[in-house]
Amino acid sequence: MIDLHTHTDQSDGTFSPGQLVQAAAAMSLEALAITDHDTLAGYDIASPIAEAAGVELICAIELSTRLDRHPGEPRSPSIHLLGYFPDQPPGLEFRDWLLRLQQSRRARNVSLVAKLQSLGVDIALEEAQALGRNLTGRPHFARVLVSKGYVRTTQEAFDVYLADDAQAAVEREEPTLLEGIQRLTTGGGLAVLAHPVRLGRPEFNRPENLAGELVAAGLQGIEAFHSEHSAADTERFLGIARRFSLFVTGGSDFHGDNKPGIQLATGKGGSLCLAYTLVEEMRAAAARPAIS
Ligand code: AMP
Ligand code: ZN
Ligand code: FE
Ligand code: FE
Repeated sequence: MIDLHTHTDQSDGTFSPGQLVQAAAAMSLEALAITDHDTLAGYDIASPIAEAAGVELICAIELSTRLDRHPGEPRSPSIHLLGYFPDQPPGLEFRDWLLRLQQSRRARNVSLVAKLQSLGVDIALEEAQALGRNLTGRPHFARVLVSKGYVRTTQEAFDVYLADDAQAAVEREEPTLLEGIQRLTTGGGLAVLAHPVRLGRPEFNRPENLAGELVAAGLQGIEAFHSEHSAADTERFLGIARRFSLFVTGGSDFHGDNKPGIQLATGKGGSLCLAYTLVEEMRAAAARPAIS
């Protein structure tokens, strides 16, 4: 059994990288990929621990991107792109780019605090940063709003304040989906469309339509197996994979106590059991010259 989609406390999970590796070792997982949001910090910490524990750790990341926007159009919903570096971790250029992404989120957080304060919310940046540290994001602000009694649940925090179309929404510089694909592939990685079931907008009702464009841009894989996918969803994405010659990945999207219903490797209610052949197929794709 393997898990190719997990988060540590270096982004919005609750397990430290070491705890996650130990949990994978306890389950005798044959491979683990840490896919923290916009950072390799969890992978970097986990790498020597995994080596010592005999766990095959694959370098990976989950990038937040959006579709290109034409002037006057609203922002597209966030689209997550997984990147895998099965042969070797990316070099300095890619890591520098990640630092710029993190900087843009930090600048957004400063504006977000100002906007919340202007709405009468008593909140300081430090309160969110105490929870999120290097990768403080909106989920951490949501927890502060809950703990201070402004809302009852994190979902209410998003609905009332933090969602893209809510009162305190602040835009930040985010890569487009096509830039994400290009950064991953030029950084020596493989670009994979994450949990395609979430592409909910009307133009995505047929990811088939989008897939051709993304494949032309360098997309090589699709996450057909995911905790949020029904059996019918998975069948549909396997069909897209066949049609566009994409390799298939899967994972639980484990976030520890931040998503209590989801278990490492087995997902929601034990619905996942992914074979190591997915890793072999990923490696085979990495060995093929990229289309460009
Ligand atoms: P950030 O990268 O800081 O903008 O935060 C993005 C994260 O916030 C996403 O990965 C989701 O976990 C969460 N999020 C964004 N929009 C919503 C929403 N409308 N409802 C619930 N969670 C959301
Ligand atoms: Zn996450
Ligand atoms: Fe995601
Ligand atoms: Fe994820």
